[in-house]
Amino acid sequence: MHRTTPNCQAYRAAILHFHADPAFDDKAYAWHEDGLLIVADGHVQAAGEYALLHSRLPEGVMVQDYRGKLIVPGFIDTHIHYPQTEMIASPAPGLLPWLQTYTFPNERKFADAEHAGEVARFFLDELLRCGTTTAMVYCTVHPASVDAFFAESEKRQLRMVAGKVLMDRHCPEFLCDTAESGIRESEELIRKWHKRGRQLYAITPRFAATSSEAQLQLAGELARAYPDTFLQTHVAENTDEVAWIKALFPDARSYLDVYDRYGMLRPRAMYAHCIWLDDRDRERMRETQSATAVCPTSNLFLGSGLFDFAKADAMRLPLSLASDVGGGTSFSMLQTMNEAYKVARMGGTHLPALRMFYLATLGGARSMQLEGTIGNFATGAEADFIVLDPQATPLLARRTARAENLEEMLFAFALLGDDRAVTATYSAGKLVI
Ligand SMILES: [Zn+2]
Repeated sequence: MHRTTPNCQAYRAAILHFHADPAFDDKAYAWHEDGLLIVADGHVQAAGEYALLHSRLPEGVMVQDYRGKLIVPGFIDTHIHYPQTEMIASPAPGLLPWLQTYTFPNERKFADAEHAGEVARFFLDELLRCGTTTAMVYCTVHPASVDAFFAESEKRQLRMVAGKVLMDRHCPEFLCDTAESGIRESEELIRKWHKRGRQLYAITPRFAATSSEAQLQLAGELARAYPDTFLQTHVAENTDEVAWIKALFPDARSYLDVYDRYGMLRPRAMYAHCIWLDDRDRERMRETQSATAVCPTSNLFLGSGLFDFAKADAMRLPLSLASDVGGGTSFSMLQTMNEAYKVARMGGTHLPALRMFYLATLGGARSMQLEGTIGNFATGAEADFIVLDPQATPLLARRTARAENLEEMLFAFALLGDDRAVTATYSAGKLVI
């Protein structure tokens, strides 16, 4: 243990990470007020009390001193659209007009690999600036948009999940797959990118309204042929959309049931929104270990509805937080927590900050079946972490100086923090911003 390890680094700060969901477990987290995080070859070697761990440091390892700051695992955003980066904050009366007016014309530009690469670079910079080290990302229907995204992510050695959108009806001609071409291109992309370095592929039907029954059928078959890939789509976001799905699939019991019929409820399937579900739907989500991406800034912005935390928790559904940019209004998971808190309040629920930090870290990892790989500082996990500064703004400094316990400090970060609160972002043990 006393030999110099060239790829070993150590970081001293307050350290917080989770082993379980604090909503259901009293001993869900580890908190070290004067902590040390030891990283070797891009993986966590140890996280604990400085006083206990510093003597275990190999000789010659410099300790990066972040005292006064807080180290947590990198945030995980389980639902975001990188091609919508430039159209964030576009005004429209609801989801369907917003798609027609802004989203589709904007996504058209991603047939051009150069444009896609330029936006991917900005997008990843912005995520990292906000402390998000892993995201589940929608590209466009163009395979070039996926290649551009993964190439940029791979260059930075980030742990990202992404996929080509499948869409063969109810969309402009210029964004239209056929059922077969969409699946063929997805399969080529799976072979090229899935598990290449830290890249992971997600089969990505946009939502049931824009895929024909033939395409949904084939997407379900593809998911069965590649069971360790991810799957992502939208469900039950707003009432107009739910009514449209009912008209398109009159035999389905519910919107979620459409996906169920095609075998798309499964582990590693991420369903964005899940606002207008009923208990039978929630039961199916639980039985199949399908995960929910709660997207509060988007749901408020588009006026879609309020996610019901109480009903989801009553069923112990796997939950995670997501920005849903460009429907969402911030890349920051701290701002996402801020809005999640208010959405929960409107439903009569109190979301403690500890829970929100869990949802944005280990909750995301668990929802993606990536616990042990990312999401906390378990020994051997990939060393994706961020450094938060409680004095990042005058108001945050003033409030956190008066915080009497961990919950109060985290709550101040969640309600008052944003990208400014993130001092440093590390991915696989390397400083990336
Ligand atoms: Zn979305």
